[in-house]
Amino acid sequence: MIATLNGIDIDLKTSAEIDAMHEAGLVVYEAHMAMRDAVRPGVSTAELDRIAETVIRDHGATPVFKGYPKKDSPDFPASITASINHELVHGIPSPDRILKEGDIISLDCGCTYNGYVGDSAYTWPVGEVAPAVMRLLEVTEGALYEAIRAAVLPNETKDVSLATADYVQRHGYSVAREYTGHGVGKEMHEEPQVPNWWPSGPKARRLNFVSVPLRPGMTIAIEPMVIAGRAELRELSDKWTVVTRDRSLCAHYEHTIAVTEGEPIILTRP
Ligand code: MG
Ligand code: MG
Repeated sequence: MIATLNGIDIDLKTSAEIDAMHEAGLVVYEAHMAMRDAVRPGVSTAELDRIAETVIRDHGATPVFKGYPKKDSPDFPASITASINHELVHGIPSPDRILKEGDIISLDCGCTYNGYVGDSAYTWPVGEVAPAVMRLLEVTEGALYEAIRAAVLPNETKDVSLATADYVQRHGYSVAREYTGHGVGKEMHEEPQVPNWWPSGPKARRLNFVSVPLRPGMTIAIEPMVIAGRAELRELSDKWTVVTRDRSLCAHYEHTIAVTEGEPIILTRP
């Protein structure tokens, strides 16, 4: 059912649709767990992609990233994005990108199953990593759960954004401002947008940030992207991979959730 909230059309899902999205989310979860088990020094990001795609196709689901279009770029060629160390998002899997001891690897994966999409991301340590690096991963995951806790009535999307930003800043890191969480359902990217920060006062209007009230049946992907250094990004010449300009480490966690009358339901895990 489409609800128009603050001028934005949002597809609110029925409980049957939310169940269908959970099915899709569980396929994504299984793909992630298979990749997690395979992450180790010496494995290539192409191998992780193959593992995820196999899980997805074995379920009769479709990788939603593969062939994903982007203006002025080639379509995305793989089923996951695999971003190493200072790569934040959208890294292209390759047989030449081999994980090393002490790296971190951000893996984002989505699939369509019975017409509905699940979308989630994790950052894993490769072998043993420094305690400061582990802390970055823990804070990023913590920001995700803090944001999910804020996804309750009568909050608005802005409250979810601010919960993320406040948590990250309190722990001494920055959020990526250019990439946002989003509605998800029949498509990977639906309304509303759920940024990881929120500009204050009139700036929000100037930047076209629109906060919408949360409603039961709203399904959104919440995805904090956290940077240990300065929050300045650039895109590599492959037209996809996004990296931090100062080459500082960054991490990315994501779950697809459903807003309810009570606690949110996390759809991309059991
Ligand atoms: Mg994602
Ligand atoms: Mg997403």
